[in-house]
Amino acid sequence: MTDAWRIEVDRRRCVGTGACAYAAPEVFRLDDRSLATVVGKVDGDDAFLRDVVAECPTEALRLSPIDDAR
Ligand code: SF4
Repeated sequence: MTDAWRIEVDRRRCVGTGACAYAAPEVFRLDDRSLATVVGKVDGDDAFLRDVVAECPTEALRLSPIDDAR
């Protein structure tokens, strides 16, 4: 079990709805091209962010555990 997470935005898929930035402004922001970018760390409970990822209409977000076993 991990409590460290990496979240990535596929900017080729992002259409700039702003939904992720609205739901989790501490993690996402729209840049000057109106594309989502990650601005914050993802720590601890990931349940909320899993919901945010699932709500992206273009499946541009991916949340994965950071494997710190090495
Ligand atoms: S919810 Fe998806 S499409 Fe909308 S701004 Fe965020 S990454 Fe882009």
